[in-house]
Amino acid sequence: MKARFSQRETLIPRVFLSEGLMEKVDILVVGAGVVGLAIASELARRDRDLFIVEREERYGMGASSRNSEVIHAGIYYPKGSLKAELCVKGNRMLYSICRENRIPHKRLGKLIVATNEEEMKTIEGLYRQGRENGAEGLEMIDEEMIRRFEPEVRAIGAIYSPSTGILDAHALMDHFYRKARRNSGVDPLILGTEVVGIEPKGDGYRVEIVGVEGRASVEARVVINSAGLHADRVAEMVGIDADREGYRIHPCKGDYFSLSGRPPVKMLIYPEPPKGGAGLGIHATPDLTGRIKFGPNAYYVKEINYRVESGVEEFWRDIIKYLPSIRREDLHPDMAGIRAKLQGPGQPFRDFVIRHEEDKGFPGFINLIGIESPGLTASPAIAEMVENMVEEILG
Ligand SMILES: Cc1cc2nc3c(=O)[nH]c(=O)nc-3n(C[C@H](O)[C@H](O)[C@H](O)COP(=O)(O)OP(=O)(O)OC[C@H]3O[C@@H](n4cnc5c(N)ncnc54)[C@H](O)[C@@H]3O)c2cc1C
Repeated sequence: MKARFSQRETLIPRVFLSEGLMEKVDILVVGAGVVGLAIASELARRDRDLFIVEREERYGMGASSRNSEVIHAGIYYPKGSLKAELCVKGNRMLYSICRENRIPHKRLGKLIVATNEEEMKTIEGLYRQGRENGAEGLEMIDEEMIRRFEPEVRAIGAIYSPSTGILDAHALMDHFYRKARRNSGVDPLILGTEVVGIEPKGDGYRVEIVGVEGRASVEARVVINSAGLHADRVAEMVGIDADREGYRIHPCKGDYFSLSGRPPVKMLIYPEPPKGGAGLGIHATPDLTGRIKFGPNAYYVKEINYRVESGVEEFWRDIIKYLPSIRREDLHPDMAGIRAKLQGPGQPFRDFVIRHEEDKGFPGFINLIGIESPGLTASPAIAEMVENMVEEILG
């Protein structure tokens, strides 16, 4: 649904009026990626006015449609971090959401492989961390077992993660959107409309939006910033200093190459993650049809474009360390995604920021910043966390 409103500066979009709503809404979610949609599906109720404002013409056009579609287990993140906690919880929630709502998914299992003794040490550390985080069913397996699982993989040891899988991210977003619409009784989504300004007003916020038909503003009691790569700028609109608070996003791109011909593996195969790197290493991910994609690599960018900019040589060299049968000529540039990272180049681990910013003087303003991987996996658990914050605000 597109926002329809007059050119007059302060007029409410007709979509709000046509649904019989007043100038004030209870909740406004900025951004309709998987996280914004999951939150809306959790918060929508018939006795609440909730809207999701999305600047693109369709939902899920950002990172949510440019990722590996992996349901992660929760191995890579430090114990006690939101990433660890929400990933482990989200993993369980996602499998039951997928089962109950017929969302295409497969619990394929994953190997994180070590090709030498040095890598083995890192893998063993990851295994311990994964177990402490509560990732389900992790096992260390030896070379023979690896060959039995995946005969083409060359490695001396691996972590076997049975709860890692893949899903159709679009089908998941369709599900969250339908649930939000059903629970609110109206269509809560306003597409092709950008939030361009937010200022505190009364017991809420005056939010300025721009769509194809002009400019308008609306008052919202609660504003939820789920704007992905632009979440730092949306936080700045309300008056938060993104640099001082450590909210600046460092876009980090990842390219993928697809493999033509017979798929060499059935499971997800990951290498040792690069030390101090921004990604998990170039891994093999089967999609729901069995086709294999390799990637993503990780490099920081200034400009947002989705061209595959990496060379095939870099990919092939990394892949043949654990899958020597792969031929360079069978790798083809496929797609790219951009991570909304808080961690800049060479910086240490940063966690998700999911905060009610009351203590900064912004009651009713909730920030979700740095929701990179495992944000897809964690999305239902993030939504639950945000729901608890909103319950406290609205009572
Ligand atoms: C290469 C890559 C691989 C990944 N692989 C995985 C994986 O396998 N498993 C996993 O769990 N996670 C993975 N992730 C992470 C996951 O994709 C993200 O965490 C998740 O999609 C984030 O969702 P989001 O809704 O926060 O952001 P987005 O999907 O980016 O949505 C944000 C939305 O906000 C909108 N917006 C921005 N500014 C405004 C504004 N001012 N007004 C209105 N709308 C606005 C944007 O248009 C966009 O639609 C990966 C990410 C990348 C980049």
